[in-house]
Amino acid sequence: MGRERVTILGSTGSIGVSTLDVLARQSDRFEVHALTAHANVEGLAEQCLEHRPAVAVMVDREAASALRDLLVRAGSATTVLVGEEALVEVASVPEVDVVMAAIVGAAGLLPTLAAAHAGKRLLLANKESLVMSGALLMDAVTRSGAKLLPVDSEHNAIFQCLPAGYICGEPVHPHGAERILLTASGGPFRERPLDRFDDITPDEACAHPNWDMGRKISVDSATMMNKGLEVIEACWLFALEPEAIQVVLHPQSIVHSMVTYADGSVLAQMGNPDMRTPIAHSLAWPGRIASGVAPLDLVKAGRLEFLPPSRERFPCLDLAYRALSAGGTATTILNAANEIAVQAFLDGRIRFPAIARLIDATLTALPVQSADSLDGILAADAEAREYASAWATARASA
Ligand code: NAD
Ligand code: MG
Repeated sequence: MGRERVTILGSTGSIGVSTLDVLARQSDRFEVHALTAHANVEGLAEQCLEHRPAVAVMVDREAASALRDLLVRAGSATTVLVGEEALVEVASVPEVDVVMAAIVGAAGLLPTLAAAHAGKRLLLANKESLVMSGALLMDAVTRSGAKLLPVDSEHNAIFQCLPAGYICGEPVHPHGAERILLTASGGPFRERPLDRFDDITPDEACAHPNWDMGRKISVDSATMMNKGLEVIEACWLFALEPEAIQVVLHPQSIVHSMVTYADGSVLAQMGNPDMRTPIAHSLAWPGRIASGVAPLDLVKAGRLEFLPPSRERFPCLDLAYRALSAGGTATTILNAANEIAVQAFLDGRIRFPAIARLIDATLTALPVQSADSLDGILAADAEAREYASAWATARASA
């Protein structure tokens, strides 16, 4: 059998780089078909020279021509394609077996959906696509027979704790599972006095105590919107009601999540906080491959603590539950408002506590529609972005 061909959507990001690290250790089994980036010319050029993909996609036009020049001068055989249509193409062409969906935010939706429709083995890091359009994505997976494997460490842990033969999208209850315990580190501000939240800087918010990640998900972890998005993600992946999911603070990030069973058993998946473990698991499932992750030393870790999350400290968690119970496009609106709010905070236009206020205002202002068409979802996303951007501008530095 030939090697499996892999497309990495978002290869220059944190998950993309970790995926290439695992693939380089497994070059007898996998080859890279396509790498993609938004506008990082040097990063993508370096990856192309090292991993020799057939195709590189650059979304930004100017960056694409700079990449083309650079690769031609270096004698590279990689073809450079440009634009969002090219992302969809490399996610769905017949020669690709595996798609790692690791673009950040709503920009990942269309290529992720395309991989699902094309029946690929879909390694899902881009949680925003499930939050925006869970019904459409899960439906595409079921219809095409795509294999959906969760990369998000918590969902990958839950999947590992479910019985062999379980397929994402099926209800877990017939397998004897009763509840999910979704662990959260609590991020960098778990103990910061609440009266000092106004002064939080973007760099402080991005300095996660345990995980090294892109800036958007780092801010999401600091507000705990990340856990809110993950509750929504878990409801779709495991066909669960929100009541069956309990969020538990676990500052050490060693237990990546747990599943409780009818007989009282609780299964946990543990490991060092290094995304190469869930990436390697999703690449090799149902087998196992080496990932380069250091062995877990539990004696060195010493203590594993579990605490309830504070709703006052992390209002974004309740906003996610509110959108989940409203259903339809409410979670699309939540995601769009959050993306605008996080960017406004990173750009220094609003303060940290205003992230939750902006999302709250957007959810309150906009009507919820049914989420059964892509056009409807894209319209709700655009409307929420417009409302949230205007809110951020009107209250700059509030
Ligand atoms: P990142 O910011 O490090 O990388 C993002 C990638 O997406 C880059 O390659 C960038 O070029 C590309 N990109 C950005 N905007 C784009 C656009 N408009 N069009 C096309 N490509 C674009 O992000 P990350 O931390 O690697 O996270 C990627 C995804 O994985 C996110 O959905 C995140 O929630 C999820 N995730 C990340 C981690 C982690 O540890 N980093 C863990 C779990 C889930
Ligand atoms: Mg996670």
